[in-house]
Amino acid sequence: MSTHAAEPAAPAPERRVALVIHGGAGFVPKDALGEEDRREVHATLNRALDAGYAILARGGSALDAVEAAVVVLEDSPRFNAGKGAVFNAKGAHELDASIMDGHTRRAGAVAGVTTVRNPIRLARAVMEHTPHVMLAGAGAEEFADTRPEIRRVPNTWFDTPHRREQLEKAQRAEREKRAAVRDSDSDMPAYFGTVGAVALDAQGRIAAATSTGGMTNKRYGRVGDSPIIGAGTWADERCGVSGTGWGEFYIRYAVAHDICARVAYRGQSLQDAAEEVVNRIVPAAGGDGGAIALDRDGNIAMPFNSGSMFRGWIRSDGSRGTAIHED
Ligand code: ASP
Repeated sequence: MSTHAAEPAAPAPERRVALVIHGGAGFVPKDALGEEDRREVHATLNRALDAGYAILARGGSALDAVEAAVVVLEDSPRFNAGKGAVFNAKGAHELDASIMDGHTRRAGAVAGVTTVRNPIRLARAVMEHTPHVMLAGAGAEEFADTRPEIRRVPNTWFDTPHRREQLEKAQRAEREKRAAVRDSDSDMPAYFGTVGAVALDAQGRIAAATSTGGMTNKRYGRVGDSPIIGAGTWADERCGVSGTGWGEFYIRYAVAHDICARVAYRGQSLQDAAEEVVNRIVPAAGGDGGAIALDRDGNIAMPFNSGSMFRGWIRSDGSRGTAIHED
């Protein structure tokens, strides 16, 4: 038996935490948002940052942090996720969400749910309480009923006058053969409004989450990129991404995974990788949108090609901010 006194435990390595969130990319002209709206958007983004950061600051997991941040955004009528989700072509709401834990590569997703108040919570439950990655439609709702933490609401609970107006405009435009699915082709400012979060925790783990109502006037049954792992959401050991934009392009170009793959295989910086995918590849293909990305060193990238993206961040040095346009 050793007679040496026990070595004092080495202090835990100082790991810094970081968090980045978005409330959707789109084209919101600077004068389209009144002072009151602007204040409210910034306040909600800050509440989401606070919810996620409180968890990270006390040593909690990146997974808990992204879920908490997204729940705040889902509960706000300002964003196209949960309350305030856009209407589909039948005048109802179908919600998509996904979450991924980079460290374990576990992931959960739900598509086309209509009565789940916080789809991100259900996505997490799919990850933790089923052997599957994605559940869709009625099967997802049936599973929701087995989980006490999941609240269901009538589909009309998600209604907001603003989204109703967007639907009516999009449908008018469609009738006039001017456009179909994209807000940007109608008179309305193009405005996606999906929400997402990516976090780095004190253990160096990265998680990402995304939640959406999809795109205004989408066809009944349409599923976008947000619940598709690798398209709208991705997290691995060194990088995490949540996307927002014209989902069909994000699916075809595996946008979220592509950003992290560039970091892993090409050794690109997070900023360069995110910029290249969002500002070159997606627009060259005809799509638009943005993304938030975070790496294991706490670097943050928030590129968008759509004129604006509601976003907020807390960097590993503790500095924080929220923004809408390029400013
Ligand atoms: N990406 C979402 C979708 O296509 C829309 C958005 O970002 O707001 O469903």
